[in-house]
Amino acid sequence: MAGEQELVRKAVIEFAEREVAPHAAEWDEEDLCPVDVLKQMGQLGFLGTIVPPEYGGTGLGYTARAVVLEEIARHSAGLAMAAMTHYLGIEPILRYGSEEQKRRYLPKLATGEWMSGLATTEPSGGSDLSGQQTSAELKDGKWVINGRKCFITNFDIADVCVMVARTGTDDKGRPELSAFIIEKGTPGFEQGHREDKLGLRSSSTGDLVLKDVRLDESALLGKRGDGIKIALGTIGEVGRPGMAAIALGIIKGCLEEGVKFARERIIYGKPLTNVQAIQFMIAENRTDYDAARLLVYNATSLKDAGNRCDVESSVAKLYSTEAAVRCAERTIELMGGYGVMNQYPVGRYLRDAMTTISAGGTSQIMKVVIGSDSIRKMQ
Ligand SMILES: Cc1cc2nc3c(=O)[nH]c(=O)nc-3n(C[C@H](O)[C@H](O)[C@H](O)COP(=O)(O)OP(=O)(O)OC[C@H]3O[C@@H](n4cnc5c(N)ncnc54)[C@H](O)[C@@H]3O)c2cc1C
Repeated sequence: MAGEQELVRKAVIEFAEREVAPHAAEWDEEDLCPVDVLKQMGQLGFLGTIVPPEYGGTGLGYTARAVVLEEIARHSAGLAMAAMTHYLGIEPILRYGSEEQKRRYLPKLATGEWMSGLATTEPSGGSDLSGQQTSAELKDGKWVINGRKCFITNFDIADVCVMVARTGTDDKGRPELSAFIIEKGTPGFEQGHREDKLGLRSSSTGDLVLKDVRLDESALLGKRGDGIKIALGTIGEVGRPGMAAIALGIIKGCLEEGVKFARERIIYGKPLTNVQAIQFMIAENRTDYDAARLLVYNATSLKDAGNRCDVESSVAKLYSTEAAVRCAERTIELMGGYGVMNQYPVGRYLRDAMTTISAGGTSQIMKVVIGSDSIRKMQ
């Protein structure tokens, strides 16, 4: 990894040990998203690594972003989830925004002055992106939007959201989807139900309700009909490696907590590390960590080099999120009865790991992406 990225890692580790680790269990228990900590992350440049300096970011790229997410998730995967999703509002504006949209939003988002999110999922199902029902009709020079989005991360803290809605049907009769930028406080744009989640509880998730919301034509992001391309590009190349980086941080937590516990726990008059079966569990956690790390940074390096990384990102997400569940279960087992005591963080790691699997696309959807690509390429 480049020297610059290692400097980012060092800075994030110092920040996370000081500002995140001491509070992570409490945020989880209280189901609280610590917005003040996100703001501090913004001031330190941790929320703007993919934004070029001309728009107020650090321009360090997608690998640096994954480093931030991994090291924050090492202590609080929920907080990392809020930061990860913030980037899902940034990415489409950066890629598809007009110069005016970039100047209006990116400097505020890159520094954490404003928070953001991406709203695609609807009650009709997240996997079926084109089946969404939220409609946007152009009437008298205004987009009139009606519908409901669900499971939206940062729904209550985002100052600006990128959202996808149905704007008609294309020339083949398929739904035409378009993307819009919508600001908090727009009349008719309301927060709905807040979810009570199993894990990633230091991020907030809930419904966004749109009732006769009227947006200027200039709120359209990219061209009319670009909605699927914008949503899939953002989720596939930024959301999925982001979720994989969060899972990587959880695995790191399992590895480190497992070794720490095994060193301190004395049984048969000796540290638990002397038991070979325990060494094997640590070896399996380490192997999962190294494999997940290579997959995550492979995908982000491709993206940094300007290449496609959607399939590699799916591979990284599938492997890392499922490995995080395995590592958390293994570490709980390693710790004996202590593993299920809530004074230790590993139970939280398991809940967080399980919650990473569906967010950003389920394991089945990752397999659909990876399988179809493999079959196409290997003819
Ligand atoms: C913590 C969290 C945060 C989230 N944040 C956001 C957010 O910020 N913005 C946003 O828009 N969404 C967000 N989501 C939604 C997330 O993207 C969806 O939950 C996910 O895409 C799955 O959609 P679904 O829950 O509707 O499940 P469904 O699509 O209803 O899937 C149900 C089941 O069917 C399977 N399935 C579906 N299609 C296929 C297929 N073709 N082949 C095989 N199996 C299939 C799935 O794998 C799953 O097992 C979040 C979800 C979570 C859990």
